[in-house]
Amino acid sequence: MKTECPLCHMQYRTLPRHLVVRHHVHNPQERNILLQMAHGRINIRTEPCTVVGCGYHGTRLDRHINCDHPELSQEEADLLMKSVKHSTGLKLLRELREVDPPTQMITTLDVDYAANEEHPNCFPGEVDLEVDEHRQLRLANVALVAQNDSLEKEVHTLRRKMKQWKAASVKRDLRKVLGESTS
Ligand SMILES: [Zn+2]
Ligand SMILES: [Zn+2]
Repeated sequence: MKTECPLCHMQYRTLPRHLVVRHHVHNPQERNILLQMAHGRINIRTEPCTVVGCGYHGTRLDRHINCDHPELSQEEADLLMKSVKHSTGLKLLRELREVDPPTQMITTLDVDYAANEEHPNCFPGEVDLEVDEHRQLRLANVALVAQNDSLEKEVHTLRRKMKQWKAASVKRDLRKVLGESTS
């Protein structure tokens, strides 16, 4: 089975070798984290839940996402899990960099991540948020349009009423004139 390299995103059958030969990842811990990321084996159990408004921070985030968020579709839950694994992998790389490992780290995924933090829309979880915002905005617009529509209807009704009143008063005047003339 081929696995996607987290650095160049190409598929490889022998990723450990590829990481050394192609990317010169000689630090075994660094290589290990990258391999865990590639295989989706990053341990996220003790990570906090990233669902907006959810305060879960326990010991089984994987189970929590699948069991305590019935509002998420299976696809959304998988995506959420993937994004948490990704950011946890980057956190591990960052931590490794901070302890200044004896074999120099070669990759910069976590550094790129820090640079990207100001523009975080490349992470699935947060893209969802943006989609939600757009949806809210769209709904607000729809409400506004509906409001305008009903206003327009009211104006239209008022105009029609005014016409009717005018017509009625003309008739009344006519009748008055006619009545006066016949009497
Ligand atoms: Zn690669
Ligand atoms: Zn949650």
